[in-house]
Amino acid sequence: MERIDKKQFDVCDKCCDIMKKKPAKAYAKSSGKKPILAVMAEESKMRLDKWLQNGCNAYEGKDAKSKPMSFWTEQDVLKYIKENNLKIASVYGDVVPDDEQICFEGCEQTNKLTTTGCHRTGCIFCGFGCHLEKGEGRFERLKRTHPKQYAYCMNGGEYDERGLWIPNKQGLGMKHVIDELNKLYGDDFIRY
Ligand code: SF4
Repeated sequence: MERIDKKQFDVCDKCCDIMKKKPAKAYAKSSGKKPILAVMAEESKMRLDKWLQNGCNAYEGKDAKSKPMSFWTEQDVLKYIKENNLKIASVYGDVVPDDEQICFEGCEQTNKLTTTGCHRTGCIFCGFGCHLEKGEGRFERLKRTHPKQYAYCMNGGEYDERGLWIPNKQGLGMKHVIDELNKLYGDDFIRY
């Protein structure tokens, strides 16, 4: 089997630390302000454990923060949006009953709510888990809905003096990364 030379791609799991946590911490330090975060306990075991440990507000230490939505569920959020007719970002589409998912409230049987577009969003060019998507993939959707951002994501890229594939002024160069992975795992491994 053909193998990718892993040395040509600088891969790590530090994106959240570098792009989100570090800048937020630096701002909190320089401004003296404390963050209010919309994370929910149901999103991960770590968030659930933190909520059980600190509740919604952690006042102590250098990590003081407020997480007022901790006990909300995704269904609470969708219901609140629907009942109050709130405007949401267009990528989510509309909030509608999910015909395939039924839940029970007391004796009442109701359809769960879902969105017609994206269900969750992260960083726009994130490829995390994209090989597991069924139906229209995120990059295919990006191409349809945001062609300029799609072009920036796929175009460009170059090898630097260390032999590493890096973004350049023409774009992030994701096309080359995906092509290399598809050579290894099959044409439809990541669709774009
Ligand atoms: S959404 Fe993707 S790129 Fe962004 S922090 Fe999370 S894993 Fe990293």
